[in-house]
Amino acid sequence: MNSDLDRIESYYLEKLRSDPLGKEVCSESDFESQVKLLQEAGATEDEANQVASMFQCRPFHQVYDYILDQIQAEVESAVRACNANLPGKVLLRTLPTGFANAGAVNAPGGYLVTVRAELFQVIYRVCKVFCHSLDFIMLESPSGSRPLSEIAGFAPSGWTQSQAISSLVEIYDSLVDKHTVYHAPRHEIPMGQRQAFLDQIVYFAELFAVSHEYAHVLHGHCDESLESISAVERFHNEFAADDLALTLLLAPADLRNENRDAALDANYRVAGACIMFCVQVLLEACRSTDENLGFKSRAGAEYPSPMERLVRMLNSVKQRYPDWITQFADAVMIWSAGVMPALIAEVRGADEIKWIAENAKLRSQDDA
Ligand SMILES: [Zn+2]
Repeated sequence: MNSDLDRIESYYLEKLRSDPLGKEVCSESDFESQVKLLQEAGATEDEANQVASMFQCRPFHQVYDYILDQIQAEVESAVRACNANLPGKVLLRTLPTGFANAGAVNAPGGYLVTVRAELFQVIYRVCKVFCHSLDFIMLESPSGSRPLSEIAGFAPSGWTQSQAISSLVEIYDSLVDKHTVYHAPRHEIPMGQRQAFLDQIVYFAELFAVSHEYAHVLHGHCDESLESISAVERFHNEFAADDLALTLLLAPADLRNENRDAALDANYRVAGACIMFCVQVLLEACRSTDENLGFKSRAGAEYPSPMERLVRMLNSVKQRYPDWITQFADAVMIWSAGVMPALIAEVRGADEIKWIAENAKLRSQDDA
């Protein structure tokens, strides 16, 4: 038995007991209405019952524990591969769903990194929309500008940009109204190559989210008190955590070899990290709509916006790594520039999209 880990575990269990979402219990009528809504959203009866009972039988979040074990092993092996040293033991656990975020805190015995199960749900749904979008994301190829799905040799799904935007709006509405993505209609990805693409992007987005929290631990950010650091330092900390998270994510990638598998793997890793910021754009929009829904905005503009982080990280990747590893990431960038402003305009109104102009400004500065 490891006493440090035991102490962090007790801290986690205490946090779990006092978690406002941990106490929620679904009533019989809630259960039935949830099944009905899920079926209306396109789930089969079995699926609807299964999902509704997952929510009813708390702790639902523990269904993610096995993924977290795998992610933790991978992140910690990347930390060792980068010759970095964790300042203490880290316990990685899920918290009940309802919010969608992740965090790292200093705990007795070490550090506690938590992920809300809902974050993984949102990642999955947004990545699905991205995978359906490969038909209208145009990339340069030797034979001219062609859709990414065609370049990758996927059977066309026929999705248009407006379909992608309305799917994102459905996810947003479900999150804001029901605190879960389950009420957004499902758009299944055909089995085969496109499904494999989805699996990779989802996994690396999850890995990046956890790596980002580990990066805060490695940089010592969890040991600073939030009040003692300035807004500038908070910006700096987020950017530094993004850079280190990407270094960790790319640690197992083969960057010398340009064979197809190695190139695909590196591309999936960077694209997974990038799509995490698109997920954050959607979540930020949810947070600032209704403060009582669990998507509460962090104070003012004390943290960099997700799009700012995406643009900055992708530029830094391009400076640090060979250009063939960012082809899928460029596709994420092209996609997000098309769908994300439209999503925000749709759900928040055109007045609310000042950040798009700011982001455009930022991008042209970076290009200069
Ligand atoms: Zn952070």
